Amino acid sequence: MERIRNFINNEFVEPVGQSYLDNVDPAVGHVYSQVPDSDTEDVNRAVSAASAAFASWSHTPADERCRIMLKLADLLENDIERFARAECVDNGKPLSLARSLDIPRAVKNVRFFASSVLHFHGESHATDDVAINYTLRQPRGVAGIISPWNLPLYLFTWKIAPALATGNTVVAKPSEVTPMTAYMFAELCQKAGLPPGVLNIVHGQGPKAGAALVAHPDVPTISFTGSTRAGGEIASATAPMFKKLALEMGGKNANIVFADADLAAAVDGSVRAAFANQGQVCLCGSRLFVERSVCDKFTEAFVAKAREQTVGDPLEADTKQGAVVSKQHLEKIRYHVDLAREEGGTILCGGEAVANVSERCKDGFFFAPTVIAGLDMNCRTNNEEIFGAVVSIIPFDDEEQVIAQANQTNYGLSASVWTGSVSRAHRLAERLQCGTVWINCWLLRDLRVPFGGMKSSGVGREGGEETLRFYTEPKNVCVKL
Ligand code: NAD
Repeated sequence: MERIRNFINNEFVEPVGQSYLDNVDPAVGHVYSQVPDSDTEDVNRAVSAASAAFASWSHTPADERCRIMLKLADLLENDIERFARAECVDNGKPLSLARSLDIPRAVKNVRFFASSVLHFHGESHATDDVAINYTLRQPRGVAGIISPWNLPLYLFTWKIAPALATGNTVVAKPSEVTPMTAYMFAELCQKAGLPPGVLNIVHGQGPKAGAALVAHPDVPTISFTGSTRAGGEIASATAPMFKKLALEMGGKNANIVFADADLAAAVDGSVRAAFANQGQVCLCGSRLFVERSVCDKFTEAFVAKAREQTVGDPLEADTKQGAVVSKQHLEKIRYHVDLAREEGGTILCGGEAVANVSERCKDGFFFAPTVIAGLDMNCRTNNEEIFGAVVSIIPFDDEEQVIAQANQTNYGLSASVWTGSVSRAHRLAERLQCGTVWINCWLLRDLRVPFGGMKSSGVGREGGEETLRFYTEPKNVCVKL
C-alpha cells in the first residue's frame, strides 16, 4: 500500500515518530494509502528548513521566482489527468469535476501569482516639499499554510503560490483527509527546480501537526482555510504571538431568486450552487430564498433538476454527484437531515444515503441531493453549516424581508441574487453582509478580486493584490528633503 511521505528540504521523508493514518477512498469505502501522522518534531524540522531557505529565496529576483513557478504550472498542466484521477480517488468527487475545475484552477493559481508578483509595487508619497515617503513591501519569513479537504489542490495552491511568489518560504499542512495531490505536487516542485526548503509539506492531523505549526515561534504568518471552529482555535492560539492571520472559514450562503429573474437560468444556477462537489463548497447556496409568487413554480423545476443529479461512481462520465469525503461526514449530513425533519421540514427529494451505486462502490459514502421546505428561519438547519448537498427553500414576500433574512446568520461569505432589475441587484449587493455577491451567477471567479468573508466566515481577504499585500510586511521609509 502506498505510503505518503513528508516533503522537507526537497526530500521525501518518513515522519520522525513513524506513525501513520489510514487514507480512505470514499467512493469504495476502503483504505488505499497511508499518510504521516506528523508531530511537533516533524514541524520543527520543516520550519528549520524553511527558515534556512528564506534568506536566499527572498533575495532571488522576482523574475527568477516567477520562472520556476511558471515551470511548475506547466508541469501540472501537462499532468492534469493523473492529478484529477488522484483527487477523485482521494476525495470522492466526480473525475469530470476534478479534471475541469480542481486541477485546472490549481494551474491557474500558480501561474497567476507567479506573474502577478512581477507587477507588484510599493507606494511613494511626496509630503509637500518636506519629505518623500516610500513603502517597502518585504516578505515576512516562513508562512504556515493549512488547507481543507473539499478542494484539496485548488486551495493548497491558492495559498502557497502567493506566499512563494512574494519571496516567503512555506511549511504547508494539507488536510489529512485528502493528502494525495499535495504529495504528488511536491514531486513537480523538485522537477521545476524549486530550491530546497522553499516549500515543505508536513502531513498530519489538525490538532497535532496543524497546531504545532500554528504555535511555532518562527512562523510569523498563518493562512488557514477550513471550519470556523478550527479557525477560532487558531485565532486564540496566535493572538498572544501577534501573528499575521488570514482565515477563510465556513458559510451559510443565501441564494435569492426574485420573480423578475430569468427563472430557467436561476434554476440551473441554483442547482449548481446547491449541489456542486456534493455541496462541499464553502460558497454553496444552502439557503434558497424564492419570492413567494414564483416559489411553487420554481420549486417544482428545481426539485426536478435535483432528481437528475445522478449519484454514481465518481469515475463514470455521467456521474454528477460523487461520494462525500468520509463516513464521518456522511453521518454528519444524515444527522442534519434528521434534525431538519424534527424541526418540521418537509423533504421534497433525497433525504437519505444512497447504497449500492455500483458493484465497485457498494461500500462507498453517498448521499442523495436533498431539498427541504417548510422550515422556520430560526431553526438550526437554516443557521448551521451542513456542508453537504442539502438545501432549504424559504419563500419571501419582499426585498426588505429577504435582505433581513439573508443577513440573519453568523456567517458572511457569499450570496447570489437572481433578478432582471439592475437597480435591485445593486441595492442588494450594497446591503448583503458578505464578502462576495454574485448577480445572476454563482462561483464566477476572477483571481484579481479580494476574496474572503465577513463575520464568522473570515478574517482578511485573499486574491490578487490583497494576497500579495498579506504576505508582505509594509515598511515606510521617510526621507527628509
Ligand atoms: P477543518 O477545519 O476540519 O480542517 C481544515 C484544516 O485545518 C485541515 O488541514 C485540518 O487538519 C486543520 N486543522 C483542524 N484543526 C486545527 C487546529 N486546531 N489547528 C491547526 N490546524 C487545524 O475543515 P475541513 O473539514 O477540512 O473543511 C471544511 C470547512 O472548510 C467548511 O467549514 C468549509 O466551509 C470551509 N472552507 C472554507 C473556504 C473559504 O474559502 N472560506 C473554502 C473551503 C472550505
